[in-house]
Amino acid sequence: MSKVHNYSAGPCILPPEVMKKASESVIELDGIGLSLIEISHRSKEFVAIMEKARDLVRELLNVPDNYTVLFLQGGASLGFYQSAINYMKNDGGRGAYVDTGSWSNKAMKEAALLGEVVELASSKADNYQHIPKGYKVPSDVDYLHLTSNNTIFGTQFKSIPESDVPVLCDMSSDIFSKPIDVSKFDLIYGGAQKNMGPAGTTVYIVNKDSLGKTGRKIPSMLDLQVHDSKDSMFNTPPVFSIYVSMLTMEWMKSIGGMSAMQKRNDEKAALIYGEIDRNPLFKGTTAVEDRSTMNATFVLNDEAAHKERFDKLWNDARISGLKGHRSVGGYRASMYNALPVESVKVLVDVMKELERTA
Ligand SMILES: *Cc1c(COP(=O)(O)O)cnc(C)c1O
Repeated sequence: MSKVHNYSAGPCILPPEVMKKASESVIELDGIGLSLIEISHRSKEFVAIMEKARDLVRELLNVPDNYTVLFLQGGASLGFYQSAINYMKNDGGRGAYVDTGSWSNKAMKEAALLGEVVELASSKADNYQHIPKGYKVPSDVDYLHLTSNNTIFGTQFKSIPESDVPVLCDMSSDIFSKPIDVSKFDLIYGGAQKNMGPAGTTVYIVNKDSLGKTGRKIPSMLDLQVHDSKDSMFNTPPVFSIYVSMLTMEWMKSIGGMSAMQKRNDEKAALIYGEIDRNPLFKGTTAVEDRSTMNATFVLNDEAAHKERFDKLWNDARISGLKGHRSVGGYRASMYNALPVESVKVLVDVMKELERTA
């Protein structure tokens, strides 16, 4: 199979060696005479996979001992509600949110079903082209909720605001892209399908000491303490997604873990943003200091003159998934962990070629 340069925003590219092993496991898992997807999740083979996946999250992200790592379902979209219901007080509950785009908006909408949503800051007025700064996190809220990387708008928090209250963070699109200080958060959650594996599981990294303080009744499937007490096996877990996530984490570890990922991702981001800034035919759509290393959004300065030719050039170069989200327009280059630097070089060459032949 000759490979396409896959810029998909999610589900997205995974390493070829992971794909190979994952596909083999569907036929037969590690010589056991059975497929990964036809054995019990309580078999010793799958329990070992679950434990390994959990250990790899701990090791790669340096997770403190009082935190639990869970592999649940429902995507980050259930996480919006699930994070709120585990932290928002039953009586007069209030959650503070920084509105940095569509995903944080959706998180606010779900939390509003449970209590008061306090919008601390928003960049909506400039179509989310920057990360709001200069606000103070109140101490009379139950938690602060952030979206670390705004997949659609191409912005990313470069530092986490000071806060006395628990910080909950949707890290769907930049988890595992760089080292993080887990102790600054009480809850981190993210769908697998951007840096970790195929869609189907959502990883939760939770400070156990922060749970069980809301005074509300929580349905079992949403209760993080229930899932923790059952080691993510309260019900049948999404075995394939967890297995492939485990393989991807092994891959990350084998090439040097989070510092190597960060180096690779910084290199790719420098290449693409360097060209966006240099090339007179293009411009970036976000504040330079808030640019995402995962999703680079950009537009043509003169669409009428250059769109048709640019689209042909990148299609001919076997680049896929470059079209921008409908709420931003233009282009979005999603450069998740598994996207090789070579793919970014191909895109940069196409942008140069457009300039040469314009
Ligand atoms: C993709 C994405 C989501 C949605 O994830 P689902 O798994 O589809 O629910 C939420 N938040 C962010 C930041 C995302 O990138």
